Amino acid sequence: MATQEEVFKNLVSHCKEYGFVFPSSEIYDGLGAVYDYGQNGVELKNNIKQYWWASMTKLHENIVGIDAAIFMHPTTWKASGHVDAFNDPLIDNRDSKKRYRADVLIEDQIAKYDEKIQKEVEKAHKRFGESFDEQMFRQTNPRVIEHQQKRDALHERYSKAMNANDLDELKQIILDEQIVCPISGTRNWTDVRQFNLMFSTEMGSTSDGAMKIYLRPETAQGIFVNFLNVQKTGRMKIPFGIAQIGKAFRNEIVARQFVFRMREFEQMEMQFFVRPGDEMRWFDFWKQFRLKWHKALGLGDEKYRFHDHEKLAHYANAATDIEFLMPFGFKEVEGIHSRTDFDLSQHAKYSGKKIEYFDPELNKSYTPYVIETSIGVDRMFLSVMCSAYKEEQLEGGDSRVVLSLPPVLAPVKACVMPLVRKDGLPEKAREVMDLLRFDFNIQYDEKDSIGKRYRRQDAIGTPFCITIDHDTLDDNCVTVRYRDTMKQDRIAISELHELVRSQCDMTNLLRKLI
Ligand code: ATP
Repeated sequence: MATQEEVFKNLVSHCKEYGFVFPSSEIYDGLGAVYDYGQNGVELKNNIKQYWWASMTKLHENIVGIDAAIFMHPTTWKASGHVDAFNDPLIDNRDSKKRYRADVLIEDQIAKYDEKIQKEVEKAHKRFGESFDEQMFRQTNPRVIEHQQKRDALHERYSKAMNANDLDELKQIILDEQIVCPISGTRNWTDVRQFNLMFSTEMGSTSDGAMKIYLRPETAQGIFVNFLNVQKTGRMKIPFGIAQIGKAFRNEIVARQFVFRMREFEQMEMQFFVRPGDEMRWFDFWKQFRLKWHKALGLGDEKYRFHDHEKLAHYANAATDIEFLMPFGFKEVEGIHSRTDFDLSQHAKYSGKKIEYFDPELNKSYTPYVIETSIGVDRMFLSVMCSAYKEEQLEGGDSRVVLSLPPVLAPVKACVMPLVRKDGLPEKAREVMDLLRFDFNIQYDEKDSIGKRYRRQDAIGTPFCITIDHDTLDDNCVTVRYRDTMKQDRIAISELHELVRSQCDMTNLLRKLI
């Protein structure tokens, strides 16, 4: 049995081998934490985006979309707090010359205590069997109590240091906990420094006096600065939302785990503007709606959990993450934040413009509060791929790699295959293609044996393979082979469109959300 780590490594190779994800500018040895999506990756990614966009703009009469520019006036980032506060604490190990996030090193240490406790619990569970009382064990076992106390003390000290932005204390924690560099194994650490994650560049020629501008680190600000434009031109009434999909850029200190943490990535964000005082109700509404959106894909309900934030960003009064069980643990895929009126008020202050909403029902003006849902397309892509990727042993000693993608998201919905390249079968196959290609992404394949063609389609997650044989010319029936079960059915050509539609049409998925 391959370990989770090995499976993940195989998945990364698979993504490259089958045209899902390539390292950026690979012929020059790539660029750290930047990736390109290939011919199949882009289709899957587009389907994810389409599902999200439709679920926001089609299912909610009071949500509209925009597409703001990546470049924004630099004062935007002063107002939003990113120039002063969008930092990560970094630390270097002098021996390995490797750079780490100090907060991540400490959080990993906390997780180690949790693992130790979990191991004790599992050991005892095995020993005591059915009669095991976990709660009692956790409260009374001396080793567990000791680990728990150490863990809690560390957690408290760490939270305090983070909230106070106390960099010396973060370093002291790393020293006191005897945390070593995973590469060099030493404790030869530098001081902890703040590192701003925004990329900057210059706009205009230098002789004119160029202006320093930033590549947006989140798409949200493009929505806030357009609040009045959209509200007025769309005659939007509160509560209403603005949705956007677009690129964001962060100069991440440690880029790991493939497309999970990239320096250029894509976000799908929706800012929902509400009356002050109504925000908690809407926060709960969006938490539930977003979880439903994830679960409707059928990747496994047990793979999701909420993680409420203890340390809130300066602008938030409630925040939670939707985490997904990746091969490397539960990880954030989406954030849901109650951002108060922080952003709109800040932009009003820095621009000198009044950014308010006149509420006809209350007969007064106010600065709306905001609930935001923010999901990374690439992390969503990764969670879909991780749950779909399977290495299967088949009867007769054979094996296959199959992507059990939700059919609505699959890059290719069906592959049409003439059994042989003669006797009029290719022509018949082209007729079948024409029945389907206007509504679905369909491939045509006439090379190699049918078995090999099936494997190629399994590897990219195609739900249906449609084979045209000599009988087809007489009975107008084809053999449909299903990806997951590998079962085969004889089906009339006239029924094919409905078969593919029933599984691959986005409408069925969207209906689950209302
Ligand atoms: P993390 O704690 O993992 O750095 P974050 O809390 O900073 O993430 P947010 O600012 O809440 O992330 O961004 C919203 C979403 O954008 C995240 O849930 C994630 O899906 C995505 N995202 C953020 N940073 C990256 C990145 N470097 N690469 C890919 N996706 C990202």
